[in-house]
Amino acid sequence: MIMIAERLEKLPPYLFVDLRQKMQAAQARGVDVISLGIGDPDIPTPDPVVETLCSAIQNPDDSDRHRYGCDIPVDDFPQAVLDFYQHRYGVTLSDEQVVTTLGSKDAIVKMALGILNPGDIGIAASPGYPTYNIGHVFASATTYYAPLLRENNFYIDFDAIPDEVKRLAKVLWINYPNNPTTATADLDFFERAVEFGRQNDILIAHDNAYSENTYDGYRSPSILQVEGASEVAVEFFSLSKAFNMTGWRLGFVAGNPTAVDAVKKVKDNIDNGSLRALQFAGAKALSIVDEITPTINAVYQKRRDMVVDALTNSGWEIEKPKATIYVWAPVPPRFNGSSRAFATALLEEAGVVVTPGLGYGQWSEGYFRISLTYPDAVIAEAISRIRDFSH
Ligand SMILES: *Cc1c(COP(=O)(O)O)cnc(C)c1O
Repeated sequence: MIMIAERLEKLPPYLFVDLRQKMQAAQARGVDVISLGIGDPDIPTPDPVVETLCSAIQNPDDSDRHRYGCDIPVDDFPQAVLDFYQHRYGVTLSDEQVVTTLGSKDAIVKMALGILNPGDIGIAASPGYPTYNIGHVFASATTYYAPLLRENNFYIDFDAIPDEVKRLAKVLWINYPNNPTTATADLDFFERAVEFGRQNDILIAHDNAYSENTYDGYRSPSILQVEGASEVAVEFFSLSKAFNMTGWRLGFVAGNPTAVDAVKKVKDNIDNGSLRALQFAGAKALSIVDEITPTINAVYQKRRDMVVDALTNSGWEIEKPKATIYVWAPVPPRFNGSSRAFATALLEEAGVVVTPGLGYGQWSEGYFRISLTYPDAVIAEAISRIRDFSH
């Protein structure tokens, strides 16, 4: 008999399995199901980026274009990262502070493998992206969840982290603009995070997946803007949400050279880098960020307004998020705070899929998440159903 590794059994149940089964059951009953569940941009990758990919992969003068990205690296991508930090944040980074990654999800797990020993602790903000914990599980470490509470601006309360946890922890994961709460952070919070890392020798890993998805003129800061941040912090950036490139698998980690080097070592032994044409295209995207993000964000901002205005008209009290591609809303009172009961009823009675907060941990029970990565017409139909459902 073939047995699987215990680490797979330690993975939390994938939150959407239950919902997917209910979705299929509803469809089988003839319900026309539409989803606002997943954060995966529907708008295509910008043309200049696609064109760069196509010409790079077809370039007969580049005899290395089919080869391992790690053996024959493209300098353009890390250079574009350095230029991006300079231009966007006024932060000067050096070459050994950047590593190209196959997107952030992959890089988060590789960072965990690169810096955690069995028995170590990783601190993950909760609610939060499930991959932080999954990286810990793969590294035989354990997760301490630090709650993000509304009354604390969805910031981590560093003083509430027990001494024993501080002693054993090697990494702390934060993410602003935040998935799923849509909360944003100011530089002052990042300063406190860096200070916490310095005092406790904990790597502060900032997952910056939504830094470019911002609205109403809001600009999101980088943790690397904090004086001396690179002594204890790294930032994970992904081209996925910023430039509609989820399938391309491209991102980078920047900041603390030791942590960056740990990711490089893991990568050298597991993946062989990104296709060169992808790296050229990624460099192009970073270099034209100012041209492409306003168009992308205008689409999300309009959808955000559609959703929030409709929910507000139906009695919800929610503010318009300044960033991310989500709306985070409380479940209506008649569900007594059960996000699962609400999501199930909404699916079964109205045929609309949303993500129950419980899937992001106990601290987000009572909320649900709507993703704005669906065509305007789908969103319009979904919100009209939600309105009918809640009346
Ligand atoms: C989508 C997302 C990522 C991962 O994006 P990749 O496609 O793996 O680069 C990382 N963190 C958060 C919070 C996300 O929402």
